[in-house]
Amino acid sequence: MSLSNSDNPLRVAVFARDRMTCRYCGLLTHYDDWAGEIPTLDHVTPKKQGGLDTIENLVLACRDCNYRKKGRTPEQAGMPLRDPPPPVGSVSRGGSDALHPVSGAAPAWVG
Ligand SMILES: [Zn+2]
Repeated sequence: MSLSNSDNPLRVAVFARDRMTCRYCGLLTHYDDWAGEIPTLDHVTPKKQGGLDTIENLVLACRDCNYRKKGRTPEQAGMPLRDPPPPVGSVSRGGSDALHPVSGAAPAWVG
């Protein structure tokens, strides 16, 4: 694969859904490497265990979590997935409405 960081639409979609937040530790990541917290794309079910390149099987992970998890499932790695963070403010153009069913409950931000 020779895709650059920004040319993969699946990567862009996963990062947008997860709002640049690591789905394992909750770290807010940055494209810039000044903080060393670069977002990476992680297969929830590793490809060698049959995982697919689909948005359902891909999450944003910080480099540290991606390194720790390696080729394991979250269960095998003891790293349970968090829910994606709620949208902040108004989302202008949502392409898919199937990812986030509206619950009607007010979002609660913790710490
Ligand atoms: Zn992380």
